[in-house]
Amino acid sequence: MKIAVLSGGVGGARFLRGVRAHAREAYPDGAGGSTAAITAIVNTGDDMWLSALRIAPDLDSITYTLAGESDEERGWGRVGESERVSGELRAYGVGWPWFTLGDLDIGTHLARTSMLCDGLTLAEATDRITARWPLGVHLIPATNDEVETHVVVEDGTIMHFQEWWTRHRASLPAREFVQRNVAAAVPAPGVCEAIASADVVLLAPSNPVVSIGTVLGIPGIRDAVRSTSAAVVGVSPIIGGSVVRGMADACLTAIGVATTADAVAVHYGSRGSGGVLDAWLLGEEDAALRDTVEAAGIRASVVPLWMRDVATSGALAAAALAAAS
Ligand code: GDP
Ligand code: CA
Repeated sequence: MKIAVLSGGVGGARFLRGVRAHAREAYPDGAGGSTAAITAIVNTGDDMWLSALRIAPDLDSITYTLAGESDEERGWGRVGESERVSGELRAYGVGWPWFTLGDLDIGTHLARTSMLCDGLTLAEATDRITARWPLGVHLIPATNDEVETHVVVEDGTIMHFQEWWTRHRASLPAREFVQRNVAAAVPAPGVCEAIASADVVLLAPSNPVVSIGTVLGIPGIRDAVRSTSAAVVGVSPIIGGSVVRGMADACLTAIGVATTADAVAVHYGSRGSGGVLDAWLLGEEDAALRDTVEAAGIRASVVPLWMRDVATSGALAAAALAAAS
């Protein structure tokens, strides 16, 4: 069984933990693992250079979560984290005062940056970083190229996505999201192959605009999803008209998509009519939206969408695989 998952950071990480748990149950290898091959194709639009470090928030969120190293209480970053280095950098006026990096997290960024300076690609550096833990999921950045998301706000000012998201808490109305240098970008080795050879392709319940949208925006990836022989199943990140966690509604508003589970499905579109979806999972709160989704040519299933723990995430992953067949 080969499962390819397009993913952002925190929402994607929770979902991937569920996919891994379900795969261990449904396709056991007899040693606590799974014979299923799970490949996550991860958004790199939030990546940036800061304080001489290459930072890849979504890759790291997934790595820490799957490694059991994430801070479950805070909802992001490493468990047992401290912030001494950030305090020093702030004292020197280096970096962004509103963007705190934990010390353990800085260790990851130093490792990555060091590997990139040695000539490794981001995908190669990711392989080396993730080799430290038995993740049970192969993480591939969507691209090795630096394609960073920028936000054009109402007065025309352009800023890095992280500045808009973290400093301004997505409160400045966005006019447009721009993937810098995207035209020349290519998918990382293995990305299109994983999609083409998959038995099922899943769109994690990640931000449809700046996570999944960014992955699909890398030239070649949308075509790979459109042309794979595998079924493509998306999971709604919107439950009962709300984004659950974070501020993804601000991103949807900016591109003129309502913050509803059916509007996001219609935005992705059915593969029969130029889009990327065969099937879509809606929350029980949104059962009434099933007809709109089906009218757009997308099979709809109504299932519990809340990922409260590994068990509920695993059940969601099982439902996504069931919707593929
Ligand atoms: P980010 O890169 O860290 O912003 O994370 P993602 O893009 O992967 O996912 C963020 C999205 O996950 C949020 O906008 C939520 O809509 C969605 N999300 C978070 N928790 C849940 C959950 O329990 N269930 C579902 N269905 N979606 C969730
Ligand atoms: Ca992200």
